[in-house]
Amino acid sequence: MNRVAIISLIALVAFVVLRSRGSRVQKDPRRRFTANDRAVGFARAGNRCEHISLLGRRCTAAPPHGDHHYPWSRGGATTLSNFVALCARHNLSKGSRVPSPWATRRLERRRRAYFPPGTRTDIEWRTSSRAGS
Ligand SMILES: [Zn+2]
Repeated sequence: MNRVAIISLIALVAFVVLRSRGSRVQKDPRRRFTANDRAVGFARAGNRCEHISLLGRRCTAAPPHGDHHYPWSRGGATTLSNFVALCARHNLSKGSRVPSPWATRRLERRRRAYFPPGTRTDIEWRTSSRAGS
C-alpha cells in the first residue's frame, strides 16, 4: 500500500470514529428532567432502580438518580418516555453508553410487569421524532 492510500485510510477511520462519538448529534435543547418528570418516573418504577442484571434480576435499591435511557449527549430526548429510574451505582456505571436495541426492548418488556396498568412502557428516545410538545 502506498503512502497516500495509508493516509486516506487513517483519515477515513478517524472520520468514522468522530462521527460515531456523536459530534454531529442533534441534542435536545433541554437536558434536565423537570421535578414532575422525575416524580412520575420514580413513581411508575415503584421507587426502585430499573437496572436488570444479565440474569434477569432487578436491582432492589431506591433510585435517587433519574437519567436518560438513551443518553442525552448522543441525541436522547428529555422526555418521560426516555426517563429511567436508577440507583446511584447503576446510573454511574451506565455513563453515556448507548443502549443496544436489545437492551431497550428488554427494558420495555420488563416494565410491563411493574409499571402501573395503562402506563406506556415503550421508549421513544429520538429528539427529532417527538410528536407535539
Ligand atoms: Zn441499581
